[in-house]
Amino acid sequence: MRDMAVPTAVGFDIHGVVDSDYAFFGRLIRSLRAMGVTVYLLTGSRRSRCLRRHLSDRGIPRTVRILSVYDTIMSSYFVHKMRPTRNNYVWARPTAYCPERQVKMDDREFGRVKSDLCITHHIALLVDDSDRYLQHMCTPYFKWRNRPGDRRALLHRLADVID
Ligand SMILES: [Mg+2]
Repeated sequence: MRDMAVPTAVGFDIHGVVDSDYAFFGRLIRSLRAMGVTVYLLTGSRRSRCLRRHLSDRGIPRTVRILSVYDTIMSSYFVHKMRPTRNNYVWARPTAYCPERQVKMDDREFGRVKSDLCITHHIALLVDDSDRYLQHMCTPYFKWRNRPGDRRALLHRLADVID
């Protein structure tokens, strides 16, 4: 039997998952929160006021916690004084929720940090649309394709995790 003092946590990628159907994920996240589940959103964008506003304007509850792979990597660069230099970075394309310029991350490092964040925050299931991180993932993974059967399959998978 699971320790009731530790709430179940699940994670949703933003780009390609939550932003593929804000109405569905807004309702789903509210239901999960009502059941006492901790919900994390994982993103490669900076955790910013702009991102918060973008999500809440689209019905994503403000009670979700946002984990930024980008901020985690950049803070480790800062800690280790390994800030990217002009020679080793390229600018990422801006997105609707991250119009500021930010450095494009290396895929392998990105996957490793994403996996670390899932482990650190005891995420029981990560919902992600990309296979690129699968090789780095120890956390159970639901591949979101935004196809008709995905919503039903995801609800079943979550029911198993929450049970
Ligand atoms: Mg994605």
